[in-house]
Order: sequence, then structure tokens, then C-alpha cells
Amino acid sequence: MKAVVYRGERDVRVEDVEDPTIDAPTDAIIRITTSAICGSDLHMYEGRTGAEPGIVFGHENMGIVEEVGDGVSDLKTGDRVVLPFNVACGFCRNCENNKTGFCLNVNEGFAGGAYGYVSMGPWRGGQAEYLKVPFADFNALRLPEGEEHEHDFAMLADIFPTGYHATELAGVGPGDTVAVYGAGPVGQMAAYSARLRGASEIYVVDKVEERLRLAEEHSGAIPVNFAEVDAPAFILDATDGGTDTGIDAVGYQAQKPDGEDEVPAMVLNNLVTSTRATGRLGVVGLYVPSDPGAPTEEAANGRLLFDIGTFFEKGLKMGTGQADVKAYNRQLRDLIIAGRAEPSFVVSKRVPLEDAPDAYARFDRREDGYTKVVLDPAA
Ligand code: NAD
Ligand code: ZN
Repeated sequence: MKAVVYRGERDVRVEDVEDPTIDAPTDAIIRITTSAICGSDLHMYEGRTGAEPGIVFGHENMGIVEEVGDGVSDLKTGDRVVLPFNVACGFCRNCENNKTGFCLNVNEGFAGGAYGYVSMGPWRGGQAEYLKVPFADFNALRLPEGEEHEHDFAMLADIFPTGYHATELAGVGPGDTVAVYGAGPVGQMAAYSARLRGASEIYVVDKVEERLRLAEEHSGAIPVNFAEVDAPAFILDATDGGTDTGIDAVGYQAQKPDGEDEVPAMVLNNLVTSTRATGRLGVVGLYVPSDPGAPTEEAANGRLLFDIGTFFEKGLKMGTGQADVKAYNRQLRDLIIAGRAEPSFVVSKRVPLEDAPDAYARFDRREDGYTKVVLDPAA
């Protein structure tokens, strides 16, 4: 089959790879109908992780069940499903507690697994024609038959639950004010989720105008262009002392306004500044223990200059980590079916698998029209 293979810094290729096979009785094979490219893939694409060449990318996958192992009881050939980016067993201590992002049985010596991602276990990605799904009864979320809401449902693999998870970590409740740093797909979904949860004011910080406009239009957000204003100062002023909650949807590759330099702890420290004393932070933007391209030696080992003094003084709380997609995807699916959520507004392009190399390059440059690209292996 054809798949998107990582070959080195800013080099992905569509290559022929072995078809996946049923190796355990609980496996299923999915024929991919939509697989999305994620900002998380860009960290690997840019050579900013320990990813080795040869990885098949793709952790945002949906499709049709092609084949199931003997131990699969609930799924059958022909079912339409979306897969959480987390691979999880369903029966370890963390899975039992809904913490499927930290499964103890799918990635030896590590809490948490995912498809097509460095350090996340042996699971091949789904930017391909087919995908093997382990513990398939547990991992697959069934969808209504047909082709309706394809792009809305595709967002259930990662960014919609991840954005929602950010609001859960920050405890965004009715009437709360929120500052979301980053208006990429994850920031869009965090702002959108904040609105679903009844936030009174949502500030969204980025410097890509198209993305700021998108958040304004679909989440009722107040855009803050950090290339034009000092974002934390602007938010402090507008909220009379800071927002109740804050969300990091940028991570360690946070840029200075000029776009030249990175300041890895910039967004964390902006949040410490722009959140009111006793406020709450949800950090879903990625931080890594090893970054080959880091601006400093400390940062290369995941050690950043975090304003812990002010963080402590203000009595802030912070939640971090990979989203536990399964904790939310069923309810978010039902909001889509009921017509009360339409996360596909973030999808800007659908292209054939062969065009993945070009799409990666453009998404990496944050070109207009490339906010969220989905791949169509059948095209
Ligand atoms: P993206 O790269 O498309 O978006 C990041 C946005 O941040 C860009 O629009 C960029 O202009 C903006 N930005 C850069 N520096 C900034 C700064 N100093 N202040 C404000 N904005 C700034 O990526 P994405 O797909 O939206 O993902 C965002 C982050 O979330 C990535 O780090 C990704 O790895 C992470 N992520 C985490 C999870 C999880 O489960 N925790 C899941 C998916 C993605
Ligand atoms: Zn993703």
C-alpha cells in the first residue's frame, strides 16, 4: 500500500510499504477514508524530535473496518469508525481511570502510545491506505453510516478532543474568561470548546491573521495579534487583572513576534502574566524532554526557564499532557450528530495522499489556506 514516510528533516515521501496484517486476535484493519496532518507532525517533520527516518506518519485517522481478528466482538467489516490518536489497551490502571493518553500496555517502559509518532510505540501511522488498530473494540469509536460529516468526525481523532481537554485541564466553566495562545487547529478547537462550555470572553493570540479571523468568526473570540501588541499586557488591561483561565496551544516551538527566534517557555510565561491570581492553566501545546534543534543546551534537554516564582505567588494551577481522547470523543461525536458542533470549520484543504509532501511544506510555512489539511488516500 501507499503511505507517507518520514525520510529526514523537511523530507516526507509517499512510498510503498507492507500492507498491515492482523497479528493479534484483538486487531482490526481499517481502510482509511480521511487522515489529517497535525501540528504535532511538524515537530518531527522539522527535525525537532528524536524521530528516526522510516516512520509512517498519521495519528488522526478515520475509515471503514476492512477486517477484524477473531477476538474482536463489537466491530464488523463495513463499520465506519474514527480512531483516537492514543493507542490504549482499555484495562490498565490509567485506562480504567479514563486516562487513555497514558496507557501502560501499548508502549514498553512508557505511559502512553500513539500511531505514527516518535517515542509512542511501534504503531504505524494512518497517512496511508490502511491502518492496523490494536485492541480494536476499545479504540474504535463507531460513526453513523455513509459519508456525512466526514471532516467533522475526522477532527474527533485528535484536535477537537484535545482542544476540549485543554478547557477541562483549565476548568473553563460558564462565565469564565479565557486566553488561548495559538490559533492553529488546536487553539481553534480550544476556543471553540471554551465557547461550548459557556465562557464569557475568549481571547485568542497568534500572528497569523487568517487564523485569528477564523477564531473570531467561529468561536466569537477577541483576536490578539502578538506581532502588533504585547499580548499579555493587552489581555491584562482588557480583563482588569487577568483572565480566569488560560490555554497553551503552541508548545515549545513558540516564536518571537519576528518569527526568527524561538523562546521555548514564552507561552508558559505569557500565561503566568495574563492569568489572574488563583487562575487555572491548561497546557496541551507540546513540550519534549529532547529537542535536537533547541536554542539552548538546557532546552535541548527539555529544561526551560519557567517563571515559577510568579506562578507560585499567584497561586496558579496547571494541567498538562497528551489529551485522553476517549474521555471525550463519544460526547463530542454526539454534539456533531445533533448539529450543535461543527469542528470541520478548521479544515482548509483535502488533497490526495500523493500531495502530502507539498501539503506538509505549505502547512509548515503556515501558508494561507493550509490551516488544517486532510489526506484522501482513495483520491
Ligand atoms: P500549529 O503549529 O498549526 O499552530 C501553532 C500556532 O501557534 C501557529 O498558528 C503559530 O503562529 C502560533 N504561535 C507560535 N508562536 C506563538 C506565540 N509565541 N504566541 C502565540 N501563538 C504562537 O499546531 P497545532 O496543530 O494547532 O498544534 C498546537 C500544539 O499542540 C503543538 O505543539 C502540537 O504538538 C500540540 N498538540 C498536542 C496534543 C495533546 O494531546 N496535548 C494534541 C495535538 C497537538
Ligand atoms: Zn494531531
